[in-house]
Amino acid sequence: MINNKTAGDWNHQVQSALLGVAIGDALGVPFEFRSRSSLLESPVRDMTGYGTYDLPPGTWSDDSSLTFCLAESLISGFDLNDISNRFVQWYRRAYWSADGDVFDIGIATRKALQNIEAGVSPALAGGADEMSNGNGSLMRILPLAFFTIDMDRKDRMEIVRQVSSITHRHPRSIFACIYFIELAVRMLRGMRVDDAYAETNGSIQSLIERESLLDPSELIHFSGILSGDLWKRGIETISSSGYVIDTLEAAIWCLLHTQSFEEAVLKAVNLGEDSDTTGAVVGGLAGIAYGEDEIPQHWLKQLARVEDIRDLSSRLAQSIGK
Ligand SMILES: [Mg+2]
Repeated sequence: MINNKTAGDWNHQVQSALLGVAIGDALGVPFEFRSRSSLLESPVRDMTGYGTYDLPPGTWSDDSSLTFCLAESLISGFDLNDISNRFVQWYRRAYWSADGDVFDIGIATRKALQNIEAGVSPALAGGADEMSNGNGSLMRILPLAFFTIDMDRKDRMEIVRQVSSITHRHPRSIFACIYFIELAVRMLRGMRVDDAYAETNGSIQSLIERESLLDPSELIHFSGILSGDLWKRGIETISSSGYVIDTLEAAIWCLLHTQSFEEAVLKAVNLGEDSDTTGAVVGGLAGIAYGEDEIPQHWLKQLARVEDIRDLSSRLAQSIGK
């Protein structure tokens, strides 16, 4: 037992988070690239299929696949080469895909995985320019919250930095992942999302001041989140594009503005544009906040490879509980 959690608690939390990611992703897949105004006219209310990729209900995408590759790798400990090799296996051989097909991949992720295939070290494979700040590392980072929860904060942030950098090496993407994992860790410790948000802001602010955690030129991009006022913002100020800041803001906003798993993920998907990724990021945190018992059963029944996800979650929980 670590962190006062029993093996059963761990198992429940990992299941809830990983199923949450896949459910949020699968809810959004048919609506990826749909405008918010069209979803306002006919909102997503249930698990559906077809749409953007013409796939059956319950099909999840790259967000979940790469999350599961990371989880699978962490079961044997932290090894950056192993993580990136599994990402490449997904890209080339549809490893940990929902249906044996890779139908959705971000530009930065594709480039980075091609770099790795060409022999570039995973530490240097990801794009480091300002245009390489899509949500491609944020969407797959959540398993690190379980793996690093009992680590010293510095060690945790360093691992998050390295795992983001495989595909997204710009300080903005890295910091977004660091922030997200700090938030998730607090929620895993039992804090409500609003308290976890306030505490994450407080502790990150003091690290920025004491240890120059983030360059002042980058800080401005996180001012909406770090202000602590995200809950006051109107929906019209929340973007749901594939930009990492938009996804992080939208995810926290959705959680602060809803009271159940179902409500949170539907709010995320109905923001439109990058519906599957916003759904996946919200789904993971909402899974932690509400637990898998709150995920509608008929959604789980439709989810691709649900038993494989449960098995993966159990193995990850077991490996962390040791
Ligand atoms: Mg996707």
